[in-house]
Amino acid sequence: EVELPARERELIARRDAVLGASYRLQYRRPVHFVRGQGMWLYDPDGREYLDFYNNVPSLGHCHSEVNQAIAEQAGILSANTRYLEPRLVGYAERLVSTFPLELDRTVFTCTGSESNDLALRIARLASGNEGVIVTTYAYHGTTASVAAVSPNLGDAVKLSPNVRMISLPGPEGIPQGQAADFFEAQVKAAVHDLQRRGTGVAALLMDSIFSSDGVWVDPPGFIDRGVEAARSAGALYIADEVQPGFGRTGQHMWGFERHGVVPDLVTLGKPMGNGFPIGAVVGRRAPMDKFGATARYSNTFAGNTVGIAAADAVLTVLHRDRILENVLQVSERLRLGISEMAAAYPDVRGVRNAGLFFGIDIGREHLSAAARRKMALDVVNVMRDERVLISTTGANEDTLKVRPPLICEAKHVDLFLEAFKRALERVST
Ligand code: PMP
Repeated sequence: EVELPARERELIARRDAVLGASYRLQYRRPVHFVRGQGMWLYDPDGREYLDFYNNVPSLGHCHSEVNQAIAEQAGILSANTRYLEPRLVGYAERLVSTFPLELDRTVFTCTGSESNDLALRIARLASGNEGVIVTTYAYHGTTASVAAVSPNLGDAVKLSPNVRMISLPGPEGIPQGQAADFFEAQVKAAVHDLQRRGTGVAALLMDSIFSSDGVWVDPPGFIDRGVEAARSAGALYIADEVQPGFGRTGQHMWGFERHGVVPDLVTLGKPMGNGFPIGAVVGRRAPMDKFGATARYSNTFAGNTVGIAAADAVLTVLHRDRILENVLQVSERLRLGISEMAAAYPDVRGVRNAGLFFGIDIGREHLSAAARRKMALDVVNVMRDERVLISTTGANEDTLKVRPPLICEAKHVDLFLEAFKRALERVST
């Protein structure tokens, strides 16, 4: 291993001395960035890194139109939601118009975690129940109440006693034809359990693309009867769109549309402001109004005019530049390339994607879980040395998580595939 230059070692020492100990640096040799543009991040020596990981700057790093909207609005007014202000209302109208008609109200937040936290409050108040059903490796955010429904955080965080985890059909190896049955049975068992405890079920909360479970996108529609089972127990279906939302799947603006089920509440974050912190809950009128009639939700920064200007610019560019069409085209090229690699290298065990969100399982079947995990981590770190950024996900962290900005072009896909091939040459058994 090449030793880190003194400049990076010094920064790490200063970080360690002053930052909270809960932070983790990515990569065995951490990267140091001073600038970003489009698909690229740049280190202090001007070397460029291809970003195939960050799903916040969907329109590319430092998008000029989004930046201009932020700068202009910051020079005019940043008001809060207690004043009459037309940009806020106009954007809210525009945002809900991208959803199915039943979802026609929105409340703004600053982060995905706040969106999920608020959605849980709404679901609990609207249903009169407490329990929450999530998937086995779900991650829904940082606040105390969403950390308590995020098993992905591991044993360090105590899950709430009112939480029940359900398995997904994909990682359990259930054939696609039986996926809906399996999923429905999982939900029913969790509902039964929560009802027996006397807490009832307030919400079935699911990331529409199951990213931290390992990116399980198929078969489309497998969640529908499970959602119905939860609803018939009084629960609300909350679609966490923090990862798949705003066009990442290419086919649709929202990940839940892939399954053909309209949620009761939808939570948004990450790419909504292309990097400016803004999130939202979008929902059906009945639960949102029931919550609003009795509860207060006032969030100092959420819905501020500058954030709204950023989010508005994001929607404008998404539509005008036909970003979803680009996702469909480019993701097909990427899918073909990875499939070719899977045919040539037995250590590429499987590949799944919806648009520009890929999960690539690493390590052939007969390897131990630990060996597969190490191999996936090796691939990520060799790619880093090739100056291509990706990471891992899934139950065993042996699935590569690949999700480039949505402005990705064919030439970027080809660069990624070349680096991926070289990484496989290096780590394959
Ligand atoms: N939900 C999902 C599915 C996420 O991936 C994340 C963030 N990784 C969150 C919620 C939380 O979002 P934030 O970090 O903006 O609070």
